[in-house]
Amino acid sequence: MLHINNIEVVYSKIILALKGVSLHVPEGKIVTLLGSNGAGKSTTLKAISGLLSGEEGQITDGTIQFEGKTINEVTTDIIVRNGIFLCMEGRRIFKDLTVEENLMAGAYTRKDRRNIKEDMEKIYVYFPKLKALQGRKAGFLSGGEQQMLAIGRGIMAKPKLLLLDEPSLGIAPLLVKEIFQIIKQINKEEGTSILVVEQNTNVALSIADYGYIMENGRVVMQGKADYLLSNEEVREHYLGIG
Ligand code: ATP
Repeated sequence: MLHINNIEVVYSKIILALKGVSLHVPEGKIVTLLGSNGAGKSTTLKAISGLLSGEEGQITDGTIQFEGKTINEVTTDIIVRNGIFLCMEGRRIFKDLTVEENLMAGAYTRKDRRNIKEDMEKIYVYFPKLKALQGRKAGFLSGGEQQMLAIGRGIMAKPKLLLLDEPSLGIAPLLVKEIFQIIKQINKEEGTSILVVEQNTNVALSIADYGYIMENGRVVMQGKADYLLSNEEVREHYLGIG
């Protein structure tokens, strides 16, 4: 479904952030992109979403293909319309809008407006906490609730591929587990393919089918999630991070 072939990304014409990254997200699967701070994970998600130009970043080599089409030069708006939705690190929800209004905002590109109400109810089944908070301004939600809202908003867009940037960031460990279980459930029930960037290696690999580990702008290791979870090197260097 998504094929990234050997991409190179340069910021401000001099900082080489990605040095030939290749990765693949098959349809209906959960793939996780792991690695420490500054490894290039967020840059990879931004490259897929067409968000680099705002940061003076540029794809200088390689291709990103989604459903057979090269999308290197495509704008974010068209990428969203083609079925890729990015939930950003730091959540980027509308703090002055209510929970319900934020969820509605997620559906703005959809053509099938008929089912929006039904889908909103589905979000409330995945995240019962959001149902109880539907009339509240999003700015008053806790970090974990805001994260749920950000993911809920992503699902309202009905993407084929959902990109998640560090859903565990700043959230209590118990809630992290809950959110990852819901991500797994969404993948199963909606068939949404998911690429999730994480520093919390353990929890991400526990729901993923496949994982890539990045260091310093390169993929240094990859494999099936259960293989990576039991791999000595991975356990030593990456488990317990995050
Ligand atoms: P983190 O978890 O800290 O976000 P990451 O793995 O997502 O880390 P990136 O944010 O993709 O890493 O950063 C990769 C490299 O690119 C880093 O060296 C970073 O300093 C650099 N970089 C990221 N964004 C910019 C930018 N807008 N301008 C210049 N350099 C940048």
